[in-house]
Parts: sequence; C-alpha cells; structure tokens
Amino acid sequence: MAKHIPQRTCIGCRTVQAKRELLRIVRTPTGQVVADPSGKKNGRGTYIHKTRECFETVLSAPGKLQHALNLQAPLARQDLEALAELAKTFPAQTAAGSAMKGQNSEPRRALDQAAHQTSE
Ligand SMILES: [Zn+2]
Repeated sequence: MAKHIPQRTCIGCRTVQAKRELLRIVRTPTGQVVADPSGKKNGRGTYIHKTRECFETVLSAPGKLQHALNLQAPLARQDLEALAELAKTFPAQTAAGSAMKGQNSEPRRALDQAAHQTSE
C-alpha cells in the first residue's frame, strides 16, 4: 500500500496527477515536439492530461510548452497541428474534473486500455 507513485503536474490545468495518468510530450534531440505515449523517448519532457480541455489550454498558449520544454524557438506549426489532431481523439473533460463530480471513470479506463494496445 505504501508503494510510491510518481506524480507529475499537467502543463494545461496544473493539476498534480499520477504520472501514468498523464501523457508525456517530449522535445526530441532534433528539436521536434511530439507526444510520447511510451514515456521513454530521449529528450526533455513535460506532462499533460489526455483531454481536449488541457490540450486546448496549451495549444492556445504554446509559449507554456516552449517554456516547459526549454525551446529556443516557438513550436513548429506542424508540431502544434499534430498535437491538435491528437487532442481530437481525447475526451473533452479533465480526469480531475470527472473525479470531482463523482462520475464513473469507465470511458477513461477503456481509453487507457486502447492506448496501451495501440502503443505496443
Ligand atoms: Zn490537465
């Protein structure tokens, strides 16, 4: 029960959450910014909820991402577009929001499982 669970802060809503509940976004050695579902890519990373809400927060203020990833230049348009496309596949609500409202988390769990299956 006392097992340590690594936690990270979502760059969108600033909620602290178990790392495995969040999606890693990484700056690759070539300066690209990409989602890293495996969490194992080399490079400086930051974390975000797998929700449209948190992605929209970040995509509407990409300076946050630039700062978090310590980028020398603003994010490339194609990187932002790729993240926007990815965001469309996520539910609109934050995980924290659904937990607070006491709604069941079945859809999110099913999505997590689907994500695991496709990442292998
Ligand atoms: Zn968030």
